[in-house]
Amino acid sequence: MEIGFIGLGSMGGPMSRRLIEAGHKLTVFDTRKEAMEPLVKLGAEAARSPADVADRVETVITSLPSLDIGMKVVSGDEGLIRGNRVRRYVDLSTTGSRAAIKTAEILKQRNIVQIDSPVSGGVAGAEKGTLAVMVSGPSEEIEHVRPALEVFGKVFVCGERPGMAQSMKLANNFLSATGMAASSEAIAMGVKAGLDPSLMCDVINAGSGMNTATTQKFPRSVLPGTFDYGFGMALMVKDVRLFLAEAEDFGIPVEVAKAVGSLWETAMAEQGERSDFTELAKTVEKRAGVQMRAKKK
Ligand code: NAD
Repeated sequence: MEIGFIGLGSMGGPMSRRLIEAGHKLTVFDTRKEAMEPLVKLGAEAARSPADVADRVETVITSLPSLDIGMKVVSGDEGLIRGNRVRRYVDLSTTGSRAAIKTAEILKQRNIVQIDSPVSGGVAGAEKGTLAVMVSGPSEEIEHVRPALEVFGKVFVCGERPGMAQSMKLANNFLSATGMAASSEAIAMGVKAGLDPSLMCDVINAGSGMNTATTQKFPRSVLPGTFDYGFGMALMVKDVRLFLAEAEDFGIPVEVAKAVGSLWETAMAEQGERSDFTELAKTVEKRAGVQMRAKKK
């Protein structure tokens, strides 16, 4: 399939590489030249703007870091709605259903179909093609792009209406955010009580408290103190804020989400927008007066 790919960051970089390796013909665009270079070396064509991508291919995929940037890429001066060939727009970014419904409306006026396709499973999942790929949109259009989406991981069709896959993704990421926040507090408590944080993860992972913070995020980034998991703090805060807005739109009471959101906001204020999301553990450590690091062997 001929595919345009815009946004070649932590997720978009490895995902577009996998598409090329699976035999798809890619036209790529990113505002950072250095993000395009490795893909051009693998055979992708470099475009000059989202509009230029949309002039060259019928299917455009995006993986972008914020709602404002997503809107600019869709409908800005050099946005993809100015392109002549594009027929379908597949958004892998996490935007929430409000934004998805809005862009779907804008695109519809140009006869461009939107397929929401947020993903979960992190940079490692993007590299290995083991992501959970949540999709909503017209079913014949989903079937058309299915061969490309299956390159990323397991495809779950969530519904036909714009935004449905986004609601699914926000529910997932709220749980991921909660797991990280709650695990940090649980392990900080244990360390203060004299327990070894590595032992704590082992026990929790053999017991009922297991979650992706204790199976992956702590062992890979917090216990060794590397804090390099590959998901930006600002992205996690964006997702928690989107979940809270989504819950408000649907009139769902969210006591836990409010508390979790408040801790993530504090973590971003203390650790900075550009920090890794696992650095939330540092904020918990500071307040608890402990360090959750593995003992040097
Ligand atoms: P990232 O910041 O690493 O990458 C975003 C890319 O977009 C960068 O290469 C940047 O240069 C590019 N970009 C910025 N403005 C642009 C513009 N105007 N035109 C073209 N390119 C532009 O972000 P990421 O971690 O790859 O996340 C992308 C999306 O995927 C986000 O919505 C995020 O929430 C979601 N997501 C991320 C992860 C993860 O683990 N990193 C997991 C699941 C979902």
